[in-house]
Amino acid sequence: MSQHTHPTYDVAIVGAGAAGLMAAIWAARGGAKVVLLDGQSKAGGKILISGGGRCNVLPIESCDPVESSFHTSGSRNVLKRFFKTWRLPEIQDFVRWELDVPLVEEDDNKLFPESGKARDVRDGLVREAEQCGATITYDWRVAAIDKPTPKTESDCFVLHAEDERQIVAKKVILATGGESVPSTGSDGFGYRLAKVLGHKSVPTFPALAPLTTNDSDLTDLAGLSLPVSWRAVVSGKEVASGERSFLFTHKGFSGPAVLDASHYAIRDNAEILIAWEGNTRQDWIDFLQSRARRNVSKTVADVLPNRLAALLVKRSGVRGEMRCGNLTRSTFDALLDQLCDFRLPISGHRGFAVAEVTGGGVTLESIDPSTLESRKTPGLYLCGEILDVFGDIGGFNFQWAFISGRLAGECAAKVE
Ligand SMILES: Cc1cc2nc3c(=O)[nH]c(=O)nc-3n(C[C@H](O)[C@H](O)[C@H](O)COP(=O)(O)OP(=O)(O)OC[C@H]3O[C@@H](n4cnc5c(N)ncnc54)[C@H](O)[C@@H]3O)c2cc1C
Repeated sequence: MSQHTHPTYDVAIVGAGAAGLMAAIWAARGGAKVVLLDGQSKAGGKILISGGGRCNVLPIESCDPVESSFHTSGSRNVLKRFFKTWRLPEIQDFVRWELDVPLVEEDDNKLFPESGKARDVRDGLVREAEQCGATITYDWRVAAIDKPTPKTESDCFVLHAEDERQIVAKKVILATGGESVPSTGSDGFGYRLAKVLGHKSVPTFPALAPLTTNDSDLTDLAGLSLPVSWRAVVSGKEVASGERSFLFTHKGFSGPAVLDASHYAIRDNAEILIAWEGNTRQDWIDFLQSRARRNVSKTVADVLPNRLAALLVKRSGVRGEMRCGNLTRSTFDALLDQLCDFRLPISGHRGFAVAEVTGGGVTLESIDPSTLESRKTPGLYLCGEILDVFGDIGGFNFQWAFISGRLAGECAAKVE
């Protein structure tokens, strides 16, 4: 074995976000000498801004099947296996009792720290990683990683900082995140590190991102929020649907419904169809027919916010003062199209600058699904958002970061 003059560790983890911190805890608990490197001056920058600074740390309950809240272009069976390694109630207990962060339930299946402070989650992870014996080193941005090669007779990885500093490690975990909100430190450089080490990636795209519109009638409704059901349609075929709240903004559309639907529009160019207040065509038919003598404008405004109701009636071409009972078949249909199949006029999206996550990334085929070890570079593990997995709004992305971080940390700490 070659002798190194640089600090030497069993496991070096690149990136002190949710996944890297969790990996550090479990690698250190497994008995490994662990260093966690981050290019920023603090850990978990993204945790701190999550959930509007309150951190929606996990969902309350899993959907059935569990992996339906997650997206990958890889194998769904592989995804399913990950979720069996650490069940949601156990992760919740871990956050409550081992990170010492009491949690409260909120509407829409969300768990937040009782304190309302995302910082408590970040601090809990840092405290636990350090108590388990991991060393966290800030302002240490990894610029390159040399893998063990027979040529250099080294059985270790060498991690190079942007200056002259080096660290030597038997195993490396890449937890560098995606490329959304690059000011938090995850700027996509991790994909380049992964590529140099032989990994394939699927093209990345902003996900959970607000959408934009040029339709000024709609941006004039900025601030208005209401429940909707949405459908994503590609070439006339429905590819996804959901029910959540919708928000009009000065630039377009946001809120959980739009964020969940956004990647279908961004990646697949899907049309997004909205049913305001989640009412179906049949609900509206029954409602309008039961008020045959009432005028259309007032009847629609009985269900929808006034300004939205007025706009939709106007756009349907129906005269608002008409009685519901006098609507012809074609005017009825035109009105129903506005009320429950409203095509969002999307001009674009707000991009990686504000997207909550990155879709795409290092393929699941590049890793061994039972350990998260690279198939291309033995001794290297990948976890968190750098992989081609992301979740819906609702704490699912931290769930993925925690599950994958734990698995990578535990497996990297094992001595063969
Ligand atoms: C505004 C916003 C709100 C969100 N809210 C929620 C929420 O409420 N609930 C939820 O579940 N998810 C939420 N998310 C998503 C969630 O924050 C991420 O999915 C999750 O943090 C990803 O964890 P990660 O550890 O994989 O990556 P990151 O948290 O991005 O961590 C990667 C780390 O790697 C470091 N790094 C990168 N490259 C290098 C390098 N070359 N050398 C050294 N260090 C490097 C970075 O500095 C960073 O600290 C939100 C995201 C955003 C942007």
